[in-house]
Order: sequence, then structure tokens, then C-alpha cells
Amino acid sequence: MANSNRPTTKIANVYRGTFIHSTQQTALQILEDELLGVDTDGKIAFIERGAELDRLSRTFGFSPTEVTQLAQHEFFMPGLVDTHIHAPQYSYIGTALDMPLLQWLNTYTFPMESHFKDLKFAHSVYSKVVKRTLRNGTTTACYFATIHTDASLLLGQIANDFGQRALVGKVCMDRNDSVKHYKETNQESQEETCRFIAELLNKKYPLVRPVVTPRFALYCTAALLGQLGTIAKDNNLHIQSHIGETVEDIKLVQELFPESESYTDVYLKHNLLTDKTVMAHGCYLSDEELVLFRKTGASLSHCPNSNISLCSGMLDVRNVLKHKVKLGLGTDVAGGYSASMLDAVRRTLDTSKVLTIQNPEYDTLNFEEVFRLATLGGSQALSLDGQTGNFEVGKDFDALRVNVAAPGGPIDLVQCKEPKILLEKFLNLGDDRNIVEVFVAGRKVVPFAEPTTE
Ligand SMILES: [Zn+2]
Repeated sequence: MANSNRPTTKIANVYRGTFIHSTQQTALQILEDELLGVDTDGKIAFIERGAELDRLSRTFGFSPTEVTQLAQHEFFMPGLVDTHIHAPQYSYIGTALDMPLLQWLNTYTFPMESHFKDLKFAHSVYSKVVKRTLRNGTTTACYFATIHTDASLLLGQIANDFGQRALVGKVCMDRNDSVKHYKETNQESQEETCRFIAELLNKKYPLVRPVVTPRFALYCTAALLGQLGTIAKDNNLHIQSHIGETVEDIKLVQELFPESESYTDVYLKHNLLTDKTVMAHGCYLSDEELVLFRKTGASLSHCPNSNISLCSGMLDVRNVLKHKVKLGLGTDVAGGYSASMLDAVRRTLDTSKVLTIQNPEYDTLNFEEVFRLATLGGSQALSLDGQTGNFEVGKDFDALRVNVAAPGGPIDLVQCKEPKILLEKFLNLGDDRNIVEVFVAGRKVVPFAEPTTE
């Protein structure tokens, strides 16, 4: 594509080095000695060969001396997209993994989430989870909060303050027979959802949006599900929930909604399956249900750590991809015990290999495909791929600067490695010590700018 001599925006930063990302056509595109320019709006203005430096500097009006050169074992990759994480559950992450889902919710989750009416407690936990995920390279997070509107608004504010791209959901649940003090009336849930949406949108945070969040069919009346479907439609909002996580919850949902043909049909009937819907888990969806996902444009969030930790099930990702259903990865903290999307990448590969052990004919996922799911796939699952997910010109610069040989880091490089090997080592062995800088919409958000919030 020819560049005009009249660039419309000013260039803020130019980086030179190796860029690794996914496209629609290829799971892994490796661009060596490439130049990437970010404009003052945080968008990618160009990504071209290093040999084009002189022409680019004239066209875009920057000095070649201002170019930031990556070091030998460094590369840029797109920011990681966590399509499913419960921010309040960060308070007990790494514990309480000894029960199946419904018992686990009643014993640990609901009593703990009820504490988030205390804004001081909420502030402490939410600051920690936003910082921890950012440090681990999560540039976009799709959060569940709790039923408390003000604490949910606080989560949005904290994500904005730290510069994380986020979808934030105030949880809706007007049915809970087990932990009776942790639920809303139907009217409260509806009114507070509308207040949450209006107040969050009113803040005009550039990267934080509300997401309509029925906890899942088991904890909502049909009336509430229908009302939430209408609210999402009227405001053109994202929707998130859970589906088909365990055999037990599927059975109970069938009993509660006998007129529905399937779990997917429950959401479909209440206008909750749209091209801006992301549903977590889906371990037990039938092929017919996957067809409904594809037809509506709804997506799935694969949460392998949680699926295994709570002994819920195993998602056949290959089958989901065959059905052309959009799919991203999620940590599902705290059913999943790690807040790092690198862990989600590893557990996705592990699950695929377990399926292969069970069936040697299984078409095992490779790391390149899983890399795409964690980045571009996640952005597609959240319908944010127009803004983020890879290094296409015009998208926001959401990126991790990775140093595979970071001093004191977890990786020992024995031989000088090519970029593909460096990426594979980082995905399998790396951690936040290897993530030297994180950018969201062009802004450097890690290392943290100033210690204003704790
Ligand atoms: Zn969840």
C-alpha cells in the first residue's frame, strides 16, 4: 500500500526489532528487523521493513535517531486477552480447590463475594488483581465483579487508572437458595444494572466498557434473563455468562427451564446470545449448540485451569474451531489458580494433550494456534478485534516487550535461538520477569507509572 505524503497523525514512538503476531490467515507471523510506528492516539501507524527507515521517517516526520531498538533476545507480541476472570475471587486465588463447582460456589465464592459491599476491601482486592494481571501481560480483561454496583464501578475506575482495557460486569443473580444473603430481588438487579451501565458509560473511560452479566442460568429467573437481554440490546452492550461447565449444572438448568431444548437455547430464548456475547467453559455443548453459537456470532471462553481444578470437564477446542465458533482463553480466577494468561496457554496445550492420550487420532493443538487464541482469538471472542489482537495498521498498540533472556528470569538460553524458538520458550517457561514493558493503546502501563494506588 502506498503511503501518501500527508500523514494524518503525528508519530509518538517508533520501535525496531522482531514482531510476532497472528493474523486471520496464519497463526504465527514473525517479522524480523521490522519498524512499527505508534501515533499520538496510540494506534499503529505503520509496520514495515527496517530497510524502509529513511522513507518512513520522511513520510511520517520522525527522526531516525528517535527509534527504539530492541535487544537481541527481545521481541514484541500482542497483549494477552483474558476473556474470563472474576476480579473479587482474586482474594482467595490459589486455595479452595477441593470441591466441585456448585459446592465450591456455596462454600467459598458466595460468602466471600458478599464482602464486596465494603468498598475499602473491594479497592484493595481490585487494585491487586488489575496490577497482577497487567504485570503478567493481560492488556485486555473481561471481568466479573459482584452484585454490588458501587464496587463494580470501582473496578472500572481502577482498570482505567492503571490503563488496562477492560469489560466490567456487575453480576446479576436473583436466585440463590443456598446462600440467601448473596442475591438481589429481580427489581434490584434490573435497576442496579441500569445504574451501573449509565454511571460507567458516563465516566467516558476510553478503554473500559460495561458488560451485561447474568451469573448463569441457574442463579437467574427467566424474567431476569429476559430483562437483561433487553437491556443489552437497547444499549448495544457486551454480554457474558457461563454455560455447560459441569454435568451437574446442565442437569439442574434443564430442570429449571424444561421448555428449553438445551442450555444454549435458554440463553437464545432470552436474547442473550449475540455477536457480543462471550460464554465461559462450554465443556459439554453439543454440535447443535455450537451451530447456534456460530449462527449468532456468540463466542466461548476456554478456561482450562478452572475446568481441571474444579474437575468440571475438558473442552474439545478442536471441535469448537471446526464449528467456526469464536474462541478465546480465560484464567477464570479463582476456579483457575493462576491469574497469568501464560498459564492459560499451557493448560490449553495440556488439555489438548490429555484428549490426545484418550484418543491418539485426536488433532492436538500446537503452540502457534494457542498463541493465536490467547491474543487475536481473545480479541475476536470479545468483539474487540477492530481495536486490538495483533499488529495491524489502525489498531491500538497493545503489546508486550518480551526479553527471553531477562537477567534473573526463569529461562536459560543455551544456544542463540531463532524468534519462533524464543516465543515457544517464553510461552512454556516465561513469567512476568520476561515481560519488561506492557503497552495498552500506545501507553506504557508496565512498569507502573507512579505508586498512586495500593
Ligand atoms: Zn467463571
